[in-house]
Amino acid sequence: MLDSTLQATYDQVLRRNAGEPEFHQAVREVFESLEVIQDRHPEYQDHGILMRLCEPERQIIFRVPWVDDDGIVQVNRGFRVEYNSALGPYKGGLRFHPSVNLGIVKFLGFEQIFKNSLTGLPIGGGKGGSDFDPHGRSDGEVMRFCQSFMTELHRHMGEYTDVPAGDIGVGAREIGYLFGQYKRLTNRYEAGVLTGKGLDWGGSLVRKEATGYGAAIFADEMLKARGSSVDGRRVAVSGSGNVALYAIEKVRQLGGIAVTASDSSGYVVDENGIDLELLQQIKEVERGRITEYAERRGNGARFVKGGSVWDVPVDIAVPSATQNELDADAARTLVKNGVKAVSEGANMPCTPDAVAVLREAGVAFGPGKAANAGGVATSALEMQQNASRDAWSFEHTENRLTEIMKNIHTTCLETAEEVGRPGDYAVGANVAGFRKVADAMIAFGVI
Ligand code: GLU
Repeated sequence: MLDSTLQATYDQVLRRNAGEPEFHQAVREVFESLEVIQDRHPEYQDHGILMRLCEPERQIIFRVPWVDDDGIVQVNRGFRVEYNSALGPYKGGLRFHPSVNLGIVKFLGFEQIFKNSLTGLPIGGGKGGSDFDPHGRSDGEVMRFCQSFMTELHRHMGEYTDVPAGDIGVGAREIGYLFGQYKRLTNRYEAGVLTGKGLDWGGSLVRKEATGYGAAIFADEMLKARGSSVDGRRVAVSGSGNVALYAIEKVRQLGGIAVTASDSSGYVVDENGIDLELLQQIKEVERGRITEYAERRGNGARFVKGGSVWDVPVDIAVPSATQNELDADAARTLVKNGVKAVSEGANMPCTPDAVAVLREAGVAFGPGKAANAGGVATSALEMQQNASRDAWSFEHTENRLTEIMKNIHTTCLETAEEVGRPGDYAVGANVAGFRKVADAMIAFGVI
């Protein structure tokens, strides 16, 4: 049970947003953290901050009709939830996946507000997407879908209004089609309106790598705070998308050994360390399945159909696939195998019960809104480069990213300490992320 004021607001959130369990989960998790500052900050209550924060500023739902390669008309549903613009234009990715519905987009948008606040950069929170599944679709089908999606979305976007990017199912190819259609409809080459662009047309170096790099750096920082590091450690990474691939790369650069990757068909274990180039070739270039990795790698890599990647004994876990992929049983297995740190590369990959198990066992837990903030932070760096018509070097951009991740880590740690929950990064992230947004909302009056 939450404290009575928070509970009353939470009850209203439940009533107003029936049938959206992931959204309820995300709100509750933040509310639980805010209990520790309730008494110190009566002004948040006086200004109705929580009620206003839970209600998105604007929610757009639209039809996305398109014609497939067989000439059949298909209809998907498009979403953009412009959640909160207290700190800057709405910023957050687009997810194309059959599981996308309004509740999923709201959970992601809600998380994005605090994540973006934690980066210290001027970006508000938003999220969007569609239940369209790009898997198995031709480039032509993906293009026609993206063009139809943008035909509605473009009127809500703008470099000072709303700046979408990628997420699951939306990578460089999709951003290209989306940007092309935006440019065509508006007759403006407005680079700062989308991030994750190609390097030849306004994209930023390091953006592709940033989320995964950041999650590995965050794990390293958490371990360093406890007198150790990623160096020499075994790491389990789930997923095989953008986040997983580059978490694996950074783990290797930090001296660790990432031994797993997965997709919806199962996972691979490679005791010699995942061969990044091979995984990139299969996943990024060929858009193939993870089974092929084990087949082509030979020397001891094995594919496990179904099952849980968290059964593999490791020191560090970086869940980088999707929400609620690591439950309490998995957390117990990880703890039994001696896990030291869990750094969330995906958004909300650990269930609340899993987080409780990790907390209880004293495992360092980096919540997604802190640990995976490197992606959106580098998107904000892309916006900076676009605004100044500049393009930074890989080294300069990566240094900025590393510095941002270290700052987020310190902010979470110091805030947790300040509110009497030392070492609790989840509470630190929620309180620190929330306070900046809340203070800006108070400054703006009731809007
Ligand atoms: N989709 C990413 C996230 O969850 C990145 C968003 C962005 O770059 O705007 O934070």
